[in-house]
Amino acid sequence: MSRTPRDHDLAALGERVSAARAAAEARGETFYPGASRVHLSAFPPKERWDDWVELSSRAWPARDEKHYMLVPTTCFNCESACGLLAYVDRDTRQVRKFEGNPEHPGSRGRNCAKGPATVNQVTDPDRVLYPMKRAGRRGEGRWARISWDEALDALAARIRAALTEGRQNEIMVHIGRPGEDGFTERVLASWGVDGHNSHTNVCSSGGRTGFQFWMGIDRPSPDHAHAKVIYLISAHLEAGHYFNPHAQRITEARQNGAKVIVLDTRLSNTASHADYWLSPQPGSEAAINLAIASNLIRTGRYDAEFVRRWWNWAEYLAECRPDLPGTFEAFQAVLAELYSGFTFEYAAAESGLDAAVIAEVAEVVAGAGTRFACHAWRSAAAGNLGGWQVSRTLFLISALLGAVATEGGTFPNAWNKFVPRPIHVPPHPGVWQDLSWPEEFPLAQNELSFLLPHLLKDGRGKLDTYFVRVYNPVWTNPDGLSWMEVLTDEQKVGCFVALTPTWNESAYFADYVLPMGHGSERHDTHSYEQYDGQWVGFRQPVLRAARERLGETVTDTREVNPGEVWEENEFWIELSWRIDPDGALGIRRYHESRACPGRKLTVDEYYGWMFEHSVPGLPERAAAEGRTPLEWMRRYGAFEISRGQGAVHEQEVPAAELTGAAVRGTGRVYTAAPAPDAPNIVPMGAPAPDDQGRRPVGVLIDAVVRRGFPTPSGRLEFWSSTLAAWGWPEHALPGYIKSHVHPSALDPGQVVLLSTFRLPTQIHTRSANSKWLDELSHTNPVWIHPSDAARFGVDRTGDLIRVETEIGYFVAKAWITEGIRPGVVACSHHMGRWKLSGHSQVRAGGMMATVALRAEQAGWAMRATEHVRPYSSADPDTARIWWSDTGVHQNLTFPVHPDPISGMHCWHQAVRVRPAEAGDAHGDIAVDTAKAREVYRRWMAQTKPAGHVSPDGTRRPRWLMRPLKPGAAAFALPADRSAGR
Ligand code: SF4
Repeated sequence: MSRTPRDHDLAALGERVSAARAAAEARGETFYPGASRVHLSAFPPKERWDDWVELSSRAWPARDEKHYMLVPTTCFNCESACGLLAYVDRDTRQVRKFEGNPEHPGSRGRNCAKGPATVNQVTDPDRVLYPMKRAGRRGEGRWARISWDEALDALAARIRAALTEGRQNEIMVHIGRPGEDGFTERVLASWGVDGHNSHTNVCSSGGRTGFQFWMGIDRPSPDHAHAKVIYLISAHLEAGHYFNPHAQRITEARQNGAKVIVLDTRLSNTASHADYWLSPQPGSEAAINLAIASNLIRTGRYDAEFVRRWWNWAEYLAECRPDLPGTFEAFQAVLAELYSGFTFEYAAAESGLDAAVIAEVAEVVAGAGTRFACHAWRSAAAGNLGGWQVSRTLFLISALLGAVATEGGTFPNAWNKFVPRPIHVPPHPGVWQDLSWPEEFPLAQNELSFLLPHLLKDGRGKLDTYFVRVYNPVWTNPDGLSWMEVLTDEQKVGCFVALTPTWNESAYFADYVLPMGHGSERHDTHSYEQYDGQWVGFRQPVLRAARERLGETVTDTREVNPGEVWEENEFWIELSWRIDPDGALGIRRYHESRACPGRKLTVDEYYGWMFEHSVPGLPERAAAEGRTPLEWMRRYGAFEISRGQGAVHEQEVPAAELTGAAVRGTGRVYTAAPAPDAPNIVPMGAPAPDDQGRRPVGVLIDAVVRRGFPTPSGRLEFWSSTLAAWGWPEHALPGYIKSHVHPSALDPGQVVLLSTFRLPTQIHTRSANSKWLDELSHTNPVWIHPSDAARFGVDRTGDLIRVETEIGYFVAKAWITEGIRPGVVACSHHMGRWKLSGHSQVRAGGMMATVALRAEQAGWAMRATEHVRPYSSADPDTARIWWSDTGVHQNLTFPVHPDPISGMHCWHQAVRVRPAEAGDAHGDIAVDTAKAREVYRRWMAQTKPAGHVSPDGTRRPRWLMRPLKPGAAAFALPADRSAGR
């Protein structure tokens, strides 16, 4: 065959790559594999990061050299934590741009659009630069600039008074994007408060719950790169969990022939790249999973030996089928019987898919063997009543195939994640926060954060000081106007503090708005499961690191950040000192130097100690370059600790750990003596102690004690003794719960609204300050199938429609498309950002419309009074804004739907869609918050409070995770609340 010009080009490129490799190696430099090393998109070699030269594009054709110092940090614009490299101009000492960090083992130099857009956030002309205190009524929009000292002293006095008066539960810190591993929890533990709240129950707790009941670990870590079949229940390639690091590995697998199966009712970008796109009726995903599992069982194509060794089938038989012999053969027969009803035809009837297509997909799955990688996170698990069974039934497939912690399989995330121990570890708080962990939800995966307005309205507590950080509850949560009602009520929330880089829909109602840094202006450590390995990443203020590289000393991050922008870690340390100035409350010692007791802890010492003492291999690696571990992390941004964790559950427990150990129950092996109350920073995946405080060390498998899983049985829990014991025996097995939007639950004329999907170019609550991203995505029309559009009387894309929920309606534009299933409509979140008229701090730029919010007899009405338009600012690009649309804030019109088991807000809505009325305007909102209360009460009636079902007088099984776990005594139900047992 003759060679084409392209062949010659490739050959030449190959020779250049080889020559570049040889030259780099001769210079003692790292060679980055791939052609990029030798053309314009090359990663700068790390040896040249002190003085990297690029030509100014603006000066062309003159050769104007720009000299940069390249400083790593971590992107903060989603949870993937990809590495970034800041290009710090050596002349101006300002950040010119951000690109990928090739030294980062997770992201490997690649980013999505949101990573480089960090520079927009840093240079945003409307960002919050100074501490602000409200000057008028809450929400009135009048503010006064104050000093950090004034803010710190006022907050410290409030918190100190609450702590000394025994009002620990009146302090709460509510976190949106954590972006770090444990710093805030550690601070709250040092104050002795159970005050951590999170956003997880409006995000991923449904998905987590299903994995947690199987593995004792709440997240999957699929080894996508080596998989034969990848099964995704989400838009994983563009917006799923850890999507950029995962997407690149999924792409590698596809290049190697892997098949990708995507369940998504909507034609997402991910679905468009799949080998099999299944568009099911929302809520039927678990039925499809069970049909695939049933096929494996029926045809005998499951890994029986894995099931025999690792499932808790014997416990299931003993507890639920004592009529049968306790043999594995008896269990296999029961297993076949249990799932025999989940035929392809049944799944087809539930999902609306073709039974033959489900059968074909089931065959592909059956052929994957142990190379079956899967993921479910938000999506269906976050949309439906019982959505947690979507991930539980998904993992059933993995567990049948034996594709657990195998090459190309799915790992428990804790094995692919590493959380270093911090310098000081405070004890567990001795109190229990009912406003975050109400007794109606003893098995909730995370805090019932989105119920806070209703619990406050119920009079179940009040807050003296309420912090939010990277969190915008009015905009993010369902029923945001109920949030606004409590945030403006000083009897319910005494002091509301927004720690935020940008103004947002919640900060308008705050008492203090305190400016915090973006991803290049703050310190954090983090580690996420993105492949079968462990790494630690370091987010840092890049200008601080740059100046230190130049020999300058920086002791406070405010010295290098714009205006008086700070970082939370230094803020929390300072605030803790002011709460406990003389150490009498026992708080200060957790924020003191270890090297010089009595002196304030610095972030350099905090991270220096952590990297020196808690990250295996890092001190040696740093020493080899003549650096301290902290210097090494400041220079490279991430450290890979290990690769190839493999099947940790199979590891044999060393005999030294087994001296005096006792085997109990179904083979769980416990230490001989009670362990001391474990430190608050519990290693991921560490099993909880038993009732006597004894620590599980393993599980007996065929007469060998192996590490096992951190579940009560030590095995994978096909049958959950916890669900059975805490009032839900009917859901103790992987099963199918019909959704609240199941067709049988819809009234005539109603359709399902999917509201959970993200746009890949938006950053939740911080996109409004990124001009590039705003330009890319600035509207959220409602996806409607042509057949539905005809039924609704909607003629054209762009026509205004009303979408009516249980508590109100929103007015949006229609997008008529075949990319959505008939009978289902969809609208992305991220959009509908607004500012209240009269708030002079926020201009009508970027993504925020100006709105008028009116109290009406039946609730609230919102209408935009001004849309986005060009405006002049220090950034000439704001005068070039060409769009005016901002989309619609649909979440305001959703009532709360707490799943009674997982606690997840079930996002899908049963709605009616019709053409807008005369006088309706795009973005209009109407909400009846009294009706929102009725819906709240209806869903609460489905719960089974701990006071009624707790088998042991506790509020919650101690083995279940909690981000900040109180001490054992705080788990006891108060005597008056355990009376119903
Ligand atoms: S996926 Fe994008 S937004 Fe998320 S951390 Fe990576 S670069 Fe940032």
